[in-house]
Amino acid sequence: MSDLHTLSVKALAESLRSKQVSAVEVATRFLARTGGNPHNAFLDIDSEVTLAQARASDAKLASGTAGPLEGVPVAHKDVFVTRDFVTTAGSKILQGYRSPFDATVVQRLAQAGMVTVGKLNCDEFAMGSANENSAYGAVTNPWDITRVPGGSSGGSAAAVAARLVPAATGTDTGGSIRQPASFCGITGIKPTYGRASRYGMIAYASSLDQAGPMARSAEDCALLLSPMCGPDIDRDSTSLNMPGEDFSASLNGSIEGLRIGVPKEFFGEGLDADVRAALDSALREYEKLGAKLVPISLPLTELSIPVYYIIAPAEASSNLSRFDGVKFGHRAKDYVDLVDMYKKTRAEGFGNEVKRRIMTGAYVLSHGYYDAYYLQAQKIRRMIADDFQNAFKKCDVIAGPVAPSVAWKLGENANDPVADYLADIFTLPASLAGLPGMSLPAGFGENNMPVGMQLIGNYFKEAQLLNTAHRLQQATDFHLRQPQGI
Ligand code: GLN
Repeated sequence: MSDLHTLSVKALAESLRSKQVSAVEVATRFLARTGGNPHNAFLDIDSEVTLAQARASDAKLASGTAGPLEGVPVAHKDVFVTRDFVTTAGSKILQGYRSPFDATVVQRLAQAGMVTVGKLNCDEFAMGSANENSAYGAVTNPWDITRVPGGSSGGSAAAVAARLVPAATGTDTGGSIRQPASFCGITGIKPTYGRASRYGMIAYASSLDQAGPMARSAEDCALLLSPMCGPDIDRDSTSLNMPGEDFSASLNGSIEGLRIGVPKEFFGEGLDADVRAALDSALREYEKLGAKLVPISLPLTELSIPVYYIIAPAEASSNLSRFDGVKFGHRAKDYVDLVDMYKKTRAEGFGNEVKRRIMTGAYVLSHGYYDAYYLQAQKIRRMIADDFQNAFKKCDVIAGPVAPSVAWKLGENANDPVADYLADIFTLPASLAGLPGMSLPAGFGENNMPVGMQLIGNYFKEAQLLNTAHRLQQATDFHLRQPQGI
């Protein structure tokens, strides 16, 4: 099968089940595609490990004990800890680190039968919007290698877009699944906070971090999201005690009469004309499919930037205190005493953006500033969540842009971190509210770069979001287009 690497997750699973191909053949093809590490998407590959998993899959396929995704390749963002691959979170401080266990998400996808191809590049500790904050170099966008793939799950998005893997995991704290999916022309979903276990996901901002799948279509995302979700209450204190769900089962619903809320704040001045044009025509397509567009307002949208960039660094400053050179990872060589060892280890191990966040976080939590910044931000966070509940009285799902522009040029914001923060404006509100959100290809903008549409649902409405996206993907072919030279 010469087109193996272009097959969807669904088609690969079927070909494997019907024995048209073996898991070893599939793994061999995808491993070959990762040779030379295109787009700098991978941080660790170990073909022996991958082939051993593929052989085990073939045995299960032969004995009739196969999981639903048996033999289908996947790669994991490098913030998920893995026993068989190095885990760095894109940071020098964890260079060469091997975890004694697998993250729950990794374990559950393996139980579903998926074969791990390797670990994917990302912004250091998932802090970034362009994947330029990785200590192991930037990732390039398969649609134009002079541009960023988005971040922080940039390696995941680039690998799926370049057909190096049919699907990948990502994490989304403030947009890191949705925005790179948008920039690379693929589909990604972040479930409701608490549905996917955070156990073994290296913490950035614990009250926001969520895992989710990135693949080419909503149909493929549903196949991965089903095993990824489900309770893990003994190991993750914020895991919801809610039974798992088969998200593929609901991909046949009509969207006749579906009320799609269009927030006016998402279509204001800051939105580039090419992105607006692509979204307008995608929204018209939804009308043709029977949906109704309803004007809504999310008045605090703008405040989500200062609120998020207070809360996320505050939590990060606490979470990252564990990287002290004592328990794991890098330790400075020359030091005079314990405190000096801490200082030198962290000075050497962390990159600039991580240091910036730790300093911001420590500042907003400090005595005298806590009330003015952190507490205030928490109050506004609640108001942002309330605004969504008001909006959902008028509509079933919310649609809008993922980002104000298509992928920007590598290095464009190198001296202006705030420019990257501002570009997160449309993804942050759903994150702060803990709502599920997704991005799906909705057209092309300037320089023929992909434009994603964001869909936000109410709590636990992942199935409805995926079905809404699936309907558009049945009517359009944006998700099937591929970068040149694939
Ligand atoms: N760009 C945002 C940040 O840097 C979001 C990152 C994320 O979702 N992990 O914090």
